[in-house]
Amino acid sequence: MDDPRSDAALLARTLEHATRHLAGLDAAPVGATATPAELRQRLRRPLTDAGLEPARVIDELVADVAGGLTGSAGGRFFAWVMGGTLPAALAADWLTSTWDQNAAIHACSPAAAVVEEVCEGWLKELLRLPPAASFAMTTGTQLAHLVSLAAARHALLARRGWDVEAEGLQGAPPLRLLTSDQHHGSLDRAVRLLGLGRRALRDLPAGPDGRLAPETLRAALDEAPETATVVVLQAGDLNVGAFDDFARLVPLAHERGAWVHVDGAFGLWAAASAEHRHLLDGAGAADSWVTDGHKWLNVPYDCGYAFVADREAHFASVSHRASYLTQVEGTRDQLDWNPDWSRRARGFATYAAIRQLGRRGVADLVERTCRHARALVDGLGALPGVEVAWRPTINQGLVRFLDPRPGATAADHDRRTDALVAALDADGEAFFGGTTWRGRRCMRVSVCGWRTGEPEVRRAVAAAARVLAGMG
Ligand SMILES: *Cc1c(COP(=O)(O)O)cnc(C)c1O
Repeated sequence: MDDPRSDAALLARTLEHATRHLAGLDAAPVGATATPAELRQRLRRPLTDAGLEPARVIDELVADVAGGLTGSAGGRFFAWVMGGTLPAALAADWLTSTWDQNAAIHACSPAAAVVEEVCEGWLKELLRLPPAASFAMTTGTQLAHLVSLAAARHALLARRGWDVEAEGLQGAPPLRLLTSDQHHGSLDRAVRLLGLGRRALRDLPAGPDGRLAPETLRAALDEAPETATVVVLQAGDLNVGAFDDFARLVPLAHERGAWVHVDGAFGLWAAASAEHRHLLDGAGAADSWVTDGHKWLNVPYDCGYAFVADREAHFASVSHRASYLTQVEGTRDQLDWNPDWSRRARGFATYAAIRQLGRRGVADLVERTCRHARALVDGLGALPGVEVAWRPTINQGLVRFLDPRPGATAADHDRRTDALVAALDADGEAFFGGTTWRGRRCMRVSVCGWRTGEPEVRRAVAAAARVLAGMG
């Protein structure tokens, strides 16, 4: 397109599509209503020899995906742990695509590189992490795990005289990871991709409060005191948002030479709130931390962050220098810290989100969503036949729907819970997910989106009451 007027016309039309989507979120069903067959039938258009007018491509795309999008950007989406998109972050994200910068190195886009440096500082301040820690802006916690654990692998093996970057893992000293049985599956994948093997990851039983007991960790560490060990602790586990006891566990692990990695995909944001930051007492002494931008900060997908206390270990495991990469004196090349080469300048959205909220806005977002999660779980718990399995300590709760028939078993309650989640999602007023927690099926209640307010909580509870009444 060489005519700037056609650029403007297309983007204006796209703006209309976008605003219509946002304006419709409040009334639209939250779950997808189109079946996979319908979506395939619409979207599997023949690949043509000749191309199409851009405006037609966009109009047809919007029409074809109708009913196939979930309302995760809205205020009635409570499944998994997902956030919406703050207005400034959304707008910055549009510009990111418009500017089309390659955020691989400083020389490709000085502004993108500097924005990431600024985000690094702001994030460390908000999350109360050591100012000297290194930083990677990744696609999410999954890759943030990969980066952090690559740094851990480097440091622990270097201490044992092994250069893992040169020699790989064949013949290397053994390396193990100790974590709670409540850990997220992204950790298993990171361990597999790093060549450590799933068997190197040992699940220790969490206590009834969802936390790892110091005695449990101590016993596991002392079983093999010489073995290179990474201890992975949770700042907000996926079911109940439990925080490990960092103040006791981190020193325990450090006394035994272990590297401590903190999975705080959403929970690390508790640090931004005076009301909740006690949950992270002692976490700042760990060796690496990961969290997401696309969850609690409400930055658009995708965006995650890794921080590593040992900058040299991070740099040694990730950095790359090549003759054709222009190094600019006194600047930061993202390539030295991130696992990707060419990459989206996703720093702009984070920068805009933090500027929109400010310190107080981030704290308020965290506190407000926690309050709504509690109100939602309490509201559901007050309905007949609903049992609260976990009342939120932060923004995650669990409820169970009990089979009213006399003599109903735990398996009947499991079936009833799954049936209720499915019926509630089909109803469209709110959207939830299920999980198995301590051997029982539960409905997860997760509040992360900035658009959730009291009206959305009331609507979700009313929908559950209606669906329950309809099921008898
Ligand atoms: C979401 C989540 C992850 C994975 O994060 P992604 O951004 O999806 O890669 C890891 N751990 C926890 C606790 C999570 O909630």
